[in-house]
Amino acid sequence: MTPKVARYLRDSMPATPCLVLDVDRVEENYRRLAAALPQARIYYAVKANPAAPVLQRLVTLDSSFDAASFEEVAACLDAGAHPEAISYGNTIKKESAIRAAFARGVRMFAFDSEAELRKLARSAPGARVYCRILVGNDGAEWPLSRKFGCELEMAKELMVLAGELGLDPFGLSFHVGSQQTKTVAYEAAIAKVAMLFTDLRDAGVNVRMVNLGGGYPVRYRQEVPEIDDFGAAIMGAMTKHFGNALPEIVIEPGRFIVGDAGVVSAEVVLVSRKAKDDPVRWVYLDIGRFGGLAETEGEAIKYAFRTPHDGGAEGPVTIAGPTCDSTDTLYEKSNYRLPLALDSGDRVELLATGAYVTTYASQRFNGFAPLAEHYV
Ligand SMILES: *Cc1c(COP(=O)(O)O)cnc(C)c1O
Repeated sequence: MTPKVARYLRDSMPATPCLVLDVDRVEENYRRLAAALPQARIYYAVKANPAAPVLQRLVTLDSSFDAASFEEVAACLDAGAHPEAISYGNTIKKESAIRAAFARGVRMFAFDSEAELRKLARSAPGARVYCRILVGNDGAEWPLSRKFGCELEMAKELMVLAGELGLDPFGLSFHVGSQQTKTVAYEAAIAKVAMLFTDLRDAGVNVRMVNLGGGYPVRYRQEVPEIDDFGAAIMGAMTKHFGNALPEIVIEPGRFIVGDAGVVSAEVVLVSRKAKDDPVRWVYLDIGRFGGLAETEGEAIKYAFRTPHDGGAEGPVTIAGPTCDSTDTLYEKSNYRLPLALDSGDRVELLATGAYVTTYASQRFNGFAPLAEHYV
């Protein structure tokens, strides 16, 4: 938790549950990543946290933006981003949304199928397009399976077709999954994308950009490699496969930029046991899966907790949200322990929750309002 967030929580005591996010930390993270990968252009993955103060700060840093919908495109423009600095990176777009983004000046779009490419040719004529390829997600705590990307052979045909359809076959992309803790995931993906890149060049396609996606991790309960380790591994692999004819390099960090800038402040609603001698206490918070903690699905992302009793004796807990849906249980199998003194009414903090929380909150499930947000 940054000193500014701690001060705000202490002095303002905002009602819970809420996210408090330090926008200066967003800037520090952007600068640290830019220093680790100076050859790369940063397209912030807006979906991680689309709040205006975050986007506005990034605009002042000359960041570019990766938008997943027309609504996110509009949010970037409203924050002052130039349309040329926006990539419409979702491979699944309504044609009306493509038309709307194109009309606002967006000229870079992702695709991974022929049908999507034909939509782009019709509704974003002449635009720069890049094809997303399937790569392994091993090492990612929030992997993406096969939903996005296509096989190399198909990507090759589609990039040739893009040129024939009057689009600019600008580049290739991949995404190694979110909260990627292994630098080798990028190295393997770069090796794969480089093969296709060379093939396309040989086939006369004017491909000139490689988009390495996001995935750069944040520290939750476990240590993760430093961002400089990712930078070194990525540039090592790029140089190994492209020599000194490096293509334009794009990265799309989301979690890394905003994750550790924010803290969720919550209240303990109830501490109870299922039997008198049961060693496991159930700790119910006023935020859960439907309040924004969607990434606790499958106990994938394991947030760290702060309580007013830290340092005292601890015991095993199951941690759950306040709604009457049983999937609203956050951690049952991940060996969480919390202080025995923890009680109803205590305030607790969930650390490094600046990414993928506010936008995942349901509207009014069980009547609970979406998470409040404070940007400081
Ligand atoms: C979600 C996403 C990102 C951002 O991922 P992080 O793990 O938050 O860095 C980047 N690129 C694409 C294509 C994505 O879907």
